[in-house]
Parts: sequence; structure tokens; C-alpha cells
Amino acid sequence: MYIDCPKCHQTTLSPYDYEELSIRCKNCNTAISKVGEQVKFHEFLGEEKPLIPLQVGQIGHLNGRQYKVLAWSVYRGIHEDSEWSWTEWLLIDQQQNFQWLSFSMEEGFLLFDHLETYSMNFRSVGEYIPTPDGDLPIIDDITAELKNFDGCLPWVTHHFHTYDYYSAVKNNHFYSLEIFHDEASLFKGGQISPQIIEDAFKLPKLHNYLPWNQKVGYFINQFFK
Ligand SMILES: [Zn+2]
Repeated sequence: MYIDCPKCHQTTLSPYDYEELSIRCKNCNTAISKVGEQVKFHEFLGEEKPLIPLQVGQIGHLNGRQYKVLAWSVYRGIHEDSEWSWTEWLLIDQQQNFQWLSFSMEEGFLLFDHLETYSMNFRSVGEYIPTPDGDLPIIDDITAELKNFDGCLPWVTHHFHTYDYYSAVKNNHFYSLEIFHDEASLFKGGQISPQIIEDAFKLPKLHNYLPWNQKVGYFINQFFK
């Protein structure tokens, strides 16, 4: 499906024709959102880029499946007085299933599957997340803001969107409950080593792309694996 950019009036090809999506104009790089026939553009003030040079359109082989990178999103998380950022890459396999690959210096790479989305009648989550591993205590509760994205996302997004994330861990299963407005989406993730991502997407050595202080963290993490 082709999307007409409301700013430069050039067309950009979308990889899917959902009712709702967000895309970057191929010509002028404007962030465009579409709901039905309604198309709008959004100013993103930030220029934050992923730390890792995994680009939209790249193809990789992971866990016996072939994936294409549809989009990346950079988020800034806030918890009490600390702030940090992470990137999420939206991957699609040949059966049109989505997976989310996230990277932060704190947690490294995590590969997530979406389990379910349900509506929240009230925004209070309580102390537990309901998961296939049972009701798990929340270990982290953060607010995150979308700072930048590239590619095409199958939902409407723009700068200043904030999300609430609640996380829980059991048996190396990383659960993330993401709340936006009154909708809650539950994701289940597993850790994946930088070497596997390097091999899967034929990336150069990932530590070359990290700032010096984070490079130290990378080596420490590798050393204690
Ligand atoms: Zn444009």
C-alpha cells in the first residue's frame, strides 16, 4: 500500500495495509501516522539513534527463522531519578509473525513475543503481573517516552507518547506489561547474546559501536557470562 506524505506529497510504500500505522516518508523523512483514510504528520524533536547499527530492511536468520527488520524505536525510560534509553527493533518472519528485539546496556539483547492484549478498566496494575508462569511480582515499574523511530510500525505513534512498563522475571522468562491509554499488552522475552545477533544479521563487532564507558560494561557482561 502507498502512503501519500502530507508534507512533501511523495508516496512511500508501506509493507502492510493495516487500518492504523506509522511510517517515515522515504523522501523527506517526515513521521506520518495513518488511521483509515486520515493521514497526519508528526514532528519528532529528537534525533536519537539506536546504539547498534541494525537498520530497517536488514534480513537475518535467528532460531531457524528468517526475519526482516521493519522498524526501530528509541525509548527513554525514567524511574525515580535515573534515565536511560533502549531500542526496540520490530522483526517480521516469513509467516508474518512479529517479534521484538530490544537492546539496552543494562539488559543487553532480549527477544520478545507478544502474548496478549487486553483492556484495562482502571490503570492501577497492583503488585503482580498475570503470566503463563503464574502471577509474578513486579520488579520494575517505569515510564518511557518514544524519542524517535524509523521504518513502519503497525500502530499510530508520535513524539510525546508515553508508556508504562511493568516487568517480572521467572526462569529466565522476561515478562513486560506495556500500558498505553487503557490497553495492556503482555510480552514474553528471552535473553540473547550479542554474538548471536552479530551472526544473525551479519553485523560488525557490536562493541565497536558502543561509547567507551558502555564498552567496559559490554566486556564485563561477556566476562561474567
Ligand atoms: Zn515526505
